[in-house]
Amino acid sequence: GSSPNVSEETGRTLVVGSGGFMGRFVTEASLDSGRPTYILARSSSNSPSKASTIKFLQDRGATVIYGSITDKEFMEKVLKEHKIEVVISAVGGGSILDQFNLIEAIRNVDTVKRFLPSEFGHDTDRADPVEPGLTMYEQKRQIRRQVEKSGIPYTYICCNSIAAWPYHDNTHPADVLPPLDRFKIYGDGTVKAYFVAGTDIGKFTIMSIEDDRTLNKTVHFQPPSNLLNINEMASLWEEKIGRTLPRVTITEEDLLQMAKEMRIPQSVVAALTHDIFINGCQINFSLDKPTDVEVCSLYPDTPFRTINECFEDFAKKIIDNAKAVSKPAASNNAIFVPTAKPGALP
Ligand code: NDP
Repeated sequence: GSSPNVSEETGRTLVVGSGGFMGRFVTEASLDSGRPTYILARSSSNSPSKASTIKFLQDRGATVIYGSITDKEFMEKVLKEHKIEVVISAVGGGSILDQFNLIEAIRNVDTVKRFLPSEFGHDTDRADPVEPGLTMYEQKRQIRRQVEKSGIPYTYICCNSIAAWPYHDNTHPADVLPPLDRFKIYGDGTVKAYFVAGTDIGKFTIMSIEDDRTLNKTVHFQPPSNLLNINEMASLWEEKIGRTLPRVTITEEDLLQMAKEMRIPQSVVAALTHDIFINGCQINFSLDKPTDVEVCSLYPDTPFRTINECFEDFAKKIIDNAKAVSKPAASNNAIFVPTAKPGALP
């Protein structure tokens, strides 16, 4: 059913990569739902921002386990010891193939009721970006095939774009405010995409993990209220900041050139930006496979945050930040707010 009923004994969920960009949203949603939530963090990680995210999640009630999914025996032990029922992987684009070991561990313990490999983007069996985006997609496809071959119950989350300005050179666009100087418009700016709030990506991912209707399915996030092109995104942001900004065109050739430079991860982002805003990879197919399900039809009573609301939050952050500019930042917001220049807002 669609209403999860989680007690202390059930729903034990392990999130891999909680300190990362997507992992944090998913882990917070898991904690919000009341599920016993375990997070796997690499002790070798020396990123202070990831460490502070892990600490924040631990304070919220998550149990932290240190280790790597590349250690199969260790993973089997973790899954058994904590009676893990759901495993959600949010490892980053450079670690996709690490999941082969995790899949084997899950298959060997045979008690995991649902596995979500690290997807959180497009349907990699359909989309066909240029290199080096393609290599990452091929790796995600390999992981899908291995999951299916192993007979592990799975769900693929295809949440499309995160609600933020879609910077073509930033892996984590929601960490950065929309522009205050000028907009870079891809092509003619008319190709639409779905922009989903990170909190909603987390929330609907967690809703789907105990739902029979998403078993061995691909869950597509296509909320009609969040379908915009980049010209519309720009106008909406102009409304929020109360002034207009110049628009410069980034052509298809510009994006392909950046992809060709093969800088990782920037060129991956350029390749995917090209696929989204030139090729229309989020909108150029219909949900016609028996394995396709759409999140709004699954949960029609649960609204999505609109882009309008998300942009209002971004604008509010600029104002709050300008007000509190002298105070040290002690916030646990997922969004990093650079110090706003005087006059950024009217
Ligand atoms: P990040 O790089 O921000 O975080 C990845 C996390 O995974 C880190 O905490 C990292 O730990 C951990 N990790 C990596 N390898 C291992 C391992 N072997 N064992 C344990 N933990 C490991 O990832 P993202 O959030 O950017 O990416 C997650 C997924 O989301 C990817 O599939 C990506 O393609 C997708 N994505 C989608 C976006 C969208 O707009 N739709 C935007 C960005 C990503 P450590 O700190 O030790 O390195």
